[in-house]
Amino acid sequence: MFNIAIDGPAGAGKSTIAKLVAKKLGFVYVDTGSMYRAMALYCIRNGVDKSDEEAVSLACKEMDIVVKYEDGIQLVLLNGEVVNDYIRTEEVSHVTSSIAVYESVREKLLNLQRELAKEYNVIMDGRDIGTNVLKDADVKIYLTASVDTRAKRRFLEHIEKGEECDIEEIKQDIIDRDYRDMNRKIAPLKQADDAILVDSSEMSIDEVVDTIVSIVNDKM
Ligand code: C5P
Repeated sequence: MFNIAIDGPAGAGKSTIAKLVAKKLGFVYVDTGSMYRAMALYCIRNGVDKSDEEAVSLACKEMDIVVKYEDGIQLVLLNGEVVNDYIRTEEVSHVTSSIAVYESVREKLLNLQRELAKEYNVIMDGRDIGTNVLKDADVKIYLTASVDTRAKRRFLEHIEKGEECDIEEIKQDIIDRDYRDMNRKIAPLKQADDAILVDSSEMSIDEVVDTIVSIVNDKM
């Protein structure tokens, strides 16, 4: 199998880009953030305190996380329920990065992610794909952009969905989330030594997609 890893901070455009690259190359797009988000949703719904590692670890045992692919779209099932529509809120984002620091949470998803990469040609996005999940990925990309650009993109996403939000709050949340993701003990976000850095601050979506597709084609 040919595997592509895309890591980077919140709002860098990983999922938008990875979906388009997957389509161009006929690969399966695996969104690992959604899997962590589904676990956070379980904690929110069941009143599990995100700062209580033991309680979160116990809750992990009650969660069954499964992913399915329908017409190239990844469906995340939490105990049998498709939860795609409930995991994109700022509250879920916040809780996700808080529980993603725990070993029990990360362990639960590691095998699932590795198995998908064995089964399909994947482009997998997340925080620790190139450094941990798929250390031997054929192509590794570290996709980033300035914090202002990323906050603006997230803000526009919410506005497009008709959701009210405040750009300064979003920016602060991104800063906090990056801090937690980059400074945790287990599998922190960082650029793998063999990853190619792509800064999308001044690039259009098409430019980023073309850059990555040409990196992959060279390698193939
Ligand atoms: O990519 P997305 O914004 O959906 O990820 C949500 C959160 O899930 C991240 O902020 C991070 O805390 C966690 N995550 C992670 N490892 C991954 C993917 C996501 O820790 N591979």
